[in-house]
Parts: sequence; structure tokens; C-alpha cells
Amino acid sequence: MNRRGFFTTLAKITGVAVVAPTALNAVFSSSAQAQKKRGAAPAAGGAAAGGMPLVDPNDSVAKAVKYVEDYKKAPEAKGNNCTTCGFYAKKESRNGKEAGTCTIFAGKLVYGDAWCASWNKKA
Ligand code: SF4
Repeated sequence: MNRRGFFTTLAKITGVAVVAPTALNAVFSSSAQAQKKRGAAPAAGGAAAGGMPLVDPNDSVAKAVKYVEDYKKAPEAKGNNCTTCGFYAKKESRNGKEAGTCTIFAGKLVYGDAWCASWNKKA
């Protein structure tokens, strides 16, 4: 069996399309560049090595809860931000700003100065 035949058979057996390594490199490369912009250092294979990535304000969940990285730009925030939210836990400094975890955005960080419509006063 030649290489092409091997991958075709593998795809039929597993039901998973086999993607050429060069295509994966392109995906990981663009993902790493996007993560770099978001403040996380890329690691081998495209995963974030500098810790969790920041929430992208343009992702669907973020938009659904009206997430903004600066609460001052959201009049609805009424002066509240993530640091006063019960879902927030301070974790580290990112891009010179406080950042932490949020129950709403598992596996990602939010800025302490961020805000979203799910804000809930810290007890
Ligand atoms: S739920 Fe709270 S901590 Fe999470 S993004 Fe919204 S305001 Fe920030």
C-alpha cells in the first residue's frame, strides 16, 4: 500500500479526514499568531504556553454576554467590572493588566477591568 492509499484507508476506518501536515502547519501558524495578539505565548504545536488565552471579545459567547475588555466602554456596566464579580478569580498579570479566570469562560482569562452582562456582585 502506498502512502496515499494508507491515509485513504485510515480515513475510511476512523471516519476522520486526514489533513496534510502542511495544512496543519498553516492552521497552527495562524492560530499562534492570533494567540500572540491576545497576549499568550505560542508553544510547539500551537498551544498557549504562557498560560490560558484571553477571551476574544468577538467570540460568540463573549458577544452573547456583551463582554468588553474595558468596563468604561460599557455604560451598562455602571462602574462594575470583573474584579467585583462573583465569577472572577484573580490569577496573573497579562499585558500589564490584572487578569483572572471567570466561571462563564472556562479555560480562558478575562481582564480585571473587563465586564459582561452576567456580572454578579461578589459576596
Ligand atoms: S461573569 Fe463576571 S468575571 Fe466573568 S466576564 Fe462577566 S463580569 Fe467578568
